[in-house]
Amino acid sequence: MSDRKDSSRRIIVLREDVSRKIAAGEVIDRPFSVVRELLDNSLDAGSKTIDLYLYGGGIREIRIVDDGSGMNNEDLKICCRRHTTSKIVEEDDLYKTDTLGFRGEALASIATCSRLEIISFAEDSNHANRLVVHGGKLVSLEEHAGKRGTSVLVSDLFFNMPARRRFLKSTSSETYMCRSIFADRALPFTGVAFRMFIEDKMRYFFPVQELKERVCAAYKDAVKPSLLALLDTETEDFKLKIVMGDPALARKDRKFIQIFVNGRRVSDYSLMQAVEYAYTGFVPGGYHPVCFVFLNVNPELVDFNIHPAKKEVKLKNISSLRQGIIGLITKHLNIPLYQGVSPAPGRITDQDNLFKVFKKSSGTWERTGSDSLFTGRMQPEEYPPPSVDEDIKYFGQVFGLFLIVRKGNTVLLIDQHAAHERIIFDELMEKQYSSQKLLIPIDFSADRVEAAVIERNLPVLIELGVELKRKENGRYIIESMPEDFLILEAEEVVRFIKEDQGDQNRVKREIMDALACRLAVKDGDRLDDITAVELLRKALQLKDPKCPHGRPIWFSVSKDDLLKFVKRK
Ligand code: ADP
Ligand code: MG
Repeated sequence: MSDRKDSSRRIIVLREDVSRKIAAGEVIDRPFSVVRELLDNSLDAGSKTIDLYLYGGGIREIRIVDDGSGMNNEDLKICCRRHTTSKIVEEDDLYKTDTLGFRGEALASIATCSRLEIISFAEDSNHANRLVVHGGKLVSLEEHAGKRGTSVLVSDLFFNMPARRRFLKSTSSETYMCRSIFADRALPFTGVAFRMFIEDKMRYFFPVQELKERVCAAYKDAVKPSLLALLDTETEDFKLKIVMGDPALARKDRKFIQIFVNGRRVSDYSLMQAVEYAYTGFVPGGYHPVCFVFLNVNPELVDFNIHPAKKEVKLKNISSLRQGIIGLITKHLNIPLYQGVSPAPGRITDQDNLFKVFKKSSGTWERTGSDSLFTGRMQPEEYPPPSVDEDIKYFGQVFGLFLIVRKGNTVLLIDQHAAHERIIFDELMEKQYSSQKLLIPIDFSADRVEAAVIERNLPVLIELGVELKRKENGRYIIESMPEDFLILEAEEVVRFIKEDQGDQNRVKREIMDALACRLAVKDGDRLDDITAVELLRKALQLKDPKCPHGRPIWFSVSKDDLLKFVKRK
């Protein structure tokens, strides 16, 4: 039984003040929503400089000062009523607006749930006015000293809505959210100077600057200017600017895949996915690129009206936007910087990643070398060789292929490719695969014999996460497969699926073998010490030191044997 009482109550029309509070809560639910709306208004007013001050996580006080067009006495009188806006008149305007706000709800909502003071000096007035509203009630409106533009002060947020106040987080988390929204808003508006002060300390200063510089200024801990590139393109339908991070900046979260549409940060999944897709093969599995995408689209092709905070967006030409993004990034990643011998600057260097980094080069996939190129080296005595283990020392590489190691009284010559291939192969065989939807499904045809093989292999393919559908006329389509398989060419994947291996278990081995071979260091790859030692440590632990095709991984010769060779023994 529900404990709700008084179910016999009749439907009533909500009192004005109650409905106003409910509506206010939809737009303003925490300090950062106030910051968002006030920044929007200052930007819409054509400001050139905007200063934001935050005290007590924005719960105690938020103040924003701009030099925009301002509001005169008449504007101030009505600006805090619901549905008052200077930005649209007709419904039709909704589809053409290029301003950040247009609902005429923000100031009304803020006024309802805080103590609000606005001092504004409009372009067409000869003095400033001051408006004070507490909890939605007008306190005063009078002439006041002030400079051109508008200053808005919001204090004691939710002072009259205790339930909402209880839902607020700590001062530091509210501050963090305000900082994030500040950066989100400031990023695309590079022609406007912004400052943000927290408890009177200046935390951000963005002068009028280039897009790349702005991104660096906003996220200086996460990005380096030398690892960012600015790309742009323009078509009839859209303008696109991308500040793209070098694959070396890749990280485990998607925090810095940021998409902006007409000045607003949006969380559009398909555009984010387009970015990830473009970087496929350049960042290791489980990592995500750093990439800021700024799209400007004809307002008639965009609908922000579907989300109260305008975070979601409906885009009419989504597939051409996606293609635009993928094309621009891919083109940049395919320039020689990322190809051939010269290593990309600042490539991921922590040991864990060295094992995962691989890159695409002219349609085929290769593992890259690492930053510090180690030339095969036979050092004099005083050179302390890197230790693989207590009694295992690494001496260098010869013939671009063999790693030389002393293990106790034995010298080992280890085939770097075979060893690495085996290590990766074992890891891949153990791994659980989860499938991922392909942006561009793989479509292929199979004759009767091949179709029978495919049907037989189906259970293994399903286990591996390859989702296959049969179409008419002997056609098949691969809709999903694990991310790891993306380093194989589509034709190759199809070949593995169609080829009769005699035994189902072979199918998995063959695929893993192809992946391992592709991912492993190649003959001629020069390894730095860290990579070599890491590889050796794993290789020397292999139970069955053979490559996946059964060839031995190393050749060993003992000190005794060597002494015998030179007839010393
Ligand atoms: P909206 O932005 O959706 O129009 P708001 O409630 O945010 O609605 O603002 C109402 C109106 O107040 C705006 O349309 C604008 O005319 C005016 N206004 C608000 N803030 C400012 C500002 N900083 N400078 C100039 N005008 C402003
Ligand atoms: Mg607004």
